[in-house]
Amino acid sequence: MIHFDNSYARLPEGFFTRTAPTPVRDPKLVALNRPLAERLGLDAGWLESPAGVQMLAGNALPQGAEPIAQAYAGHQFGGFSPQLGDGRAVLLGEIVAPDGRRFDIQLKGAGPTPFSRRGDGRAWLGPVLREYLVSEFMAAFGIPTTRALAAVTTGEQVIRETILPGAVLTRVAASHIRVGTFEFYAARGDIERLRVLAEHVMARHYPDAKTPADLMQAVVRAQASTIAGWMGLGFIHGVMNTDNMSVSGETIDYGPCAFMDGYKPGQVFSSIDAGGRYAWNEQPNIAVWNLAQFASCLVPLMGNDDAAVAEATRIVHSFPEIYKAEGHRRFTAKLGISGPRAADQALVEGLLNLMAAERADFTRVFAGLSDGTARDEFIDRDAYDRWAQDWQARIAELPDAASVMARANPRRIPRNHRIEQAIAAARDDGDFTLFHRLDAALRDPFSDRPEWEDLSVAPAVDEIVQRTFC
Ligand code: AMP
Ligand code: MG
Ligand code: MG
Repeated sequence: MIHFDNSYARLPEGFFTRTAPTPVRDPKLVALNRPLAERLGLDAGWLESPAGVQMLAGNALPQGAEPIAQAYAGHQFGGFSPQLGDGRAVLLGEIVAPDGRRFDIQLKGAGPTPFSRRGDGRAWLGPVLREYLVSEFMAAFGIPTTRALAAVTTGEQVIRETILPGAVLTRVAASHIRVGTFEFYAARGDIERLRVLAEHVMARHYPDAKTPADLMQAVVRAQASTIAGWMGLGFIHGVMNTDNMSVSGETIDYGPCAFMDGYKPGQVFSSIDAGGRYAWNEQPNIAVWNLAQFASCLVPLMGNDDAAVAEATRIVHSFPEIYKAEGHRRFTAKLGISGPRAADQALVEGLLNLMAAERADFTRVFAGLSDGTARDEFIDRDAYDRWAQDWQARIAELPDAASVMARANPRRIPRNHRIEQAIAAARDDGDFTLFHRLDAALRDPFSDRPEWEDLSVAPAVDEIVQRTFC
């Protein structure tokens, strides 16, 4: 029994289309996220039962669900698409967890909706497994993100460049409302629905916000913090289109995302990002660009005059300073420094410059600061030693340096080559062993367990993943 309370489905006409998931032939459970089920107050035993799996596949609707596809628009690689929307996802409804927090329960890959255009509404197993692993790692590390409650295979094939096994991901989010949701109504000049949407978002995500300007500032803060979190992990989202930017600040829409192995600030993995618009070091700038789109949607609610534009501009321009402080806090923590000083930025940049010069492994260098193995990651050890002398001198004053560092630097990340191996084994042999190993190991990113040692190793030259695909 799931107690739904579907606030979005109670919004006026025009925010969504009622549409049910399309049943699949032969659903099988790949993974159920028991700790998350428990946190949400859901019955994990039931979810794993045949009836539960039918629901997770979209074959049976639980009582109280009001399935909808949400309408949205979005800037994709800088160009505006006025009509996107959930083309392969169905929102079953919202639940209120025992801690009082409200969550969307969405089936991704649940079949066509009125927003599917030429798409099939389906997902194949690869991206479902990737999103499951990466989003749960992000959550384990403490970065705001959508969550993965379950993955099921459908027993059906989907056709991409080749024929692939289909799957459905059950995604959990504070909401699925995006910058692009606001753009949908702003582009149509639908001020009334914009106002309703802004009020819904304030009540749901930012109860302290009283005005559209407050809302804008809250979203700027949330995004600055989340993106600083990505940067500190070497994470590259890959498709920071405005329809993939959540107003709650949660990381959403894990497509061709990836973590860097060797450190390269301009790193891009996505096969569709030929221009490098969404490179690692562009992400804070792109966030400002996206937030400028968000702000211009809200200007009509702020009086639509020069003063409104000036205030919106000021709020968008507050991002760099907030981001800089968040990034400084994150990166100095990676060096073991809590309560950082401005001068500590030179230590951060000193190390990053050494890493960039050699494409040293991002995760291993930082994790190796804790156990003295960081030096081994460098070819130019003299240069590292010179940096380390200054660093040691700084942290010698700090009694909590070791614990600060240990919590800021994961031993393991979802390495691209491991994810690809897990996907290939599942796709080709129906073998989920590596997927389950990764799932367990990435939920516990800080421990030093010998049985997971192979998962913290950087890829061999012939294992390096150069390109990722949606
Ligand atoms: P994305 O690039 O995943 O953020 O998706 C952009 C838009 O394309 C969204 O409106 C999606 O719902 C839609 N879309 C992506 N894949 C499919 C698919 N297989 N079938 C229908 N719509 C899709
Ligand atoms: Mg999307
Ligand atoms: Mg997507």
